[in-house]
Amino acid sequence: KTAHEIELMREAGRLLNIVHKELEAAIRPGISTWELDKLGERVIRGFGCVPNFLNYNGFPASFCISINDEVVHGIPSKEKILHEGDIVSIDTGAAVHGWNGDNAATFACGAIAGNAQHIMDVTKEALARGIAAAQPGNRVGDIGAAVQQYVEANGLSVVRTFVGHGVGRKLHEDPEVPNFGTAGHGPRLVAGMVIAIEPMVNEGTHVVKEQPDGWTIKTADGKLSAHFEHTIAITPKGPAILTQQA
Ligand code: MG
Repeated sequence: KTAHEIELMREAGRLLNIVHKELEAAIRPGISTWELDKLGERVIRGFGCVPNFLNYNGFPASFCISINDEVVHGIPSKEKILHEGDIVSIDTGAAVHGWNGDNAATFACGAIAGNAQHIMDVTKEALARGIAAAQPGNRVGDIGAAVQQYVEANGLSVVRTFVGHGVGRKLHEDPEVPNFGTAGHGPRLVAGMVIAIEPMVNEGTHVVKEQPDGWTIKTADGKLSAHFEHTIAITPKGPAILTQQA
């Protein structure tokens, strides 16, 4: 990607950062995931942008909002109400002049149990370690190995069925960026690449199951899952996070 294209994706990332802050502030027991979806959509449209998940392969909402044992792709719903102690993963995307950003984080609803805090902390740190491995000259497998080693050393598992990806004009581009793998293997990372690194981490088995709605993915054993994602650019100086600004 050119410097200009990366700048547009940074704009998209800045917008998603605002969305995440607004949604985090709105999370409380009693709010529905539909309300969170509408709130975030208003923020994106307020900037004259479009939520790029809406209608993506027919997805019926602006964001994927996944609670507790839901891993990814939860459909916002008036029936899905947050309760004290839940963890809620919010995956957001927006495009600026056709260039995409993709950003996810897991948030606590009120006071949460120790195991819920642990999976959130480990997943967030695993993302940081994956990003640190995204140096020009390294390979995609270096990212996956860094994420997997940290997660498994902390007694948790990484989802295999869903992976990170390139980002650009399209929300999902090559290469795939798995959260597992072998250091030194896979496509070479070069300056100008933009990728989404997005560890999905489970408390128990890494195996996941699609639900009858055709979208929602849950852990096969009903245990918790967390998800953190940043869109990053590979620069000559190292990785630059496009979806997180001070
Ligand atoms: Mg993504």
